[in-house]
Amino acid sequence: MYNVVFLGAPGAGKGTQAAVVAEKMGMVHVATGDLFRKAIASGDELGKQVKSYLEKGQLVPDKVTVAMVLNRIGQLKGVKGVILDGFPRTLAQAEALDEALKATGGKVGRVIYLAAPEAELVRRLSDRWVCRACQATYAGADKAESDSCRKCGGELHQRPDDTPETVQKRLSVYFKETAPLIDYYHKAGSLVEVDGTGEVEAITGRVVAALKKA
Ligand code: AMP
Repeated sequence: MYNVVFLGAPGAGKGTQAAVVAEKMGMVHVATGDLFRKAIASGDELGKQVKSYLEKGQLVPDKVTVAMVLNRIGQLKGVKGVILDGFPRTLAQAEALDEALKATGGKVGRVIYLAAPEAELVRRLSDRWVCRACQATYAGADKAESDSCRKCGGELHQRPDDTPETVQKRLSVYFKETAPLIDYYHKAGSLVEVDGTGEVEAITGRVVAALKKA
């Protein structure tokens, strides 16, 4: 199984790109944020455990996050590859992932680091509309054309953690906890930096090219 990690700040476009690229390349998209939000919506034990972290823009503890992701990966049988979107987000998570993959003879094959300037991240997050049902994201201009999701007809809403204060908190958590992974994966030789600015299709082209080169 080909394991790919999408790395980047909130608003860098990881979710949008991971969904499109997974579909194009026949890979499975695993988004930790989506898994947590689903658990919260269902009101299950995991949801109760993680709700307050997401509301405050803080990271869910490594132990809970790693267990959830490894469990999800473990369920994937006979798939060509997986795109991890939003995981790992700490060094401890990256090390736990390496260890778990190594135990099954696997590894992180490629890390796509989507880079975008901070002002662009803030602009995108404050203009982001998300489908409640399938998590597809839209910009305000798309929302002005239609109030419902083009993919599944679901209702579009703004994420409760996309408020200005929580966005600032998430960005500072990213720079402190997650940005060190750029160096970690660079040293491992698996990192490719991709320009995350411009049109969605153009960015997808760059990501696919970076994966095909691998
Ligand atoms: P996202 O949808 O990727 O922006 O994630 C939304 C929220 O889910 C984050 O602000 C965290 O509270 C939580 N979360 C997602 N992925 C992780 C992770 N790898 N480690 C810890 N918390 C996470």
